[in-house]
Amino acid sequence: MVNDPFGDPCVLVRLLREGRGLLFDAGALSSLSAGDMMKVSAVFVTHAHMDHFIGIDELFRNLLRRESPLLIFGPEDIIECVDGKLKGYTWNLIAKYPLKIEVFGIGERAVRHSSFHASNRFKAVEQPSTDFNGLILEDLSFKVKALRLSHSIPVIAYSIEEEFHININKALLEGRGFSVGPWLSELKKAIRLGDDSRAIKVDGKELCLAELKDLADITRGQKISYLMDTAPLSTNIEKAVEFVRGSDILFCEAYFLERDRGLAEERHHLTAALAGEIARKAKVGALKIMHFSPRYRDCVEELYAEAEEAFANPHC
Ligand SMILES: [Zn+2]
Ligand SMILES: [Zn+2]
Repeated sequence: MVNDPFGDPCVLVRLLREGRGLLFDAGALSSLSAGDMMKVSAVFVTHAHMDHFIGIDELFRNLLRRESPLLIFGPEDIIECVDGKLKGYTWNLIAKYPLKIEVFGIGERAVRHSSFHASNRFKAVEQPSTDFNGLILEDLSFKVKALRLSHSIPVIAYSIEEEFHININKALLEGRGFSVGPWLSELKKAIRLGDDSRAIKVDGKELCLAELKDLADITRGQKISYLMDTAPLSTNIEKAVEFVRGSDILFCEAYFLERDRGLAEERHHLTAALAGEIARKAKVGALKIMHFSPRYRDCVEELYAEAEEAFANPHC
């Protein structure tokens, strides 16, 4: 979590040893280091309410000279929202900057795509749309899925899933006299590609995957889900439970307490009890509640207690 639970919601998932990170929502980002910001390769925006999107300018500013593109996913109107942000500045001195921003708006049936490149002064260029089938990003080591829910406006829930998890056995590594280094991410890449003959340079020597495979322990992949600003409707809750099912970690809003259910309905937010209920029904490993209303600053423990009780107790 980038901020404390009363701050703007934002979660950074670091892809260790890959030098990349995935950002879920882009609220205030001032507590994120410039180094972490430089590594953000994709941003998954739930919706463009200010507290979820105000930090995107800061991200653009940090990435202007970066070679690798920035992907932004969000609800259908995210393309217009990014366009609006970029149009708010004057861009006459950036023609040589490398940054390419690719924006994907997730609609009911299709994903719209527009490009914004510094070389073109960030003028929106529409690209062909693709069908929306739930899967929005497929990488060598993970997949990101999206689900459209309602928060009076469309809001997107996200999950990131690893196919399998690779742990390097440190004792074996030391035993064979290898040093820790960037070659380990090459090794992981080769394992994911399943290419036994692939050569990997280790401490100046070229070895093939087959000779190094035993250094890796392969375990079940992890799943992390992110669910924010969702109206407390049974249709939303049923869909959310299926979507986050089996997550190792669920990051979930708990904007209100159940005693303020009327407000939760009026403002289209979940309560701490509903966050706990979703986590229990979906059999998640750990529930991390966040995005609390400032009205609970003096009784924050009630939010944790309410979520925990509903998570543990099937009668809530
Ligand atoms: Zn909202
Ligand atoms: Zn919000």
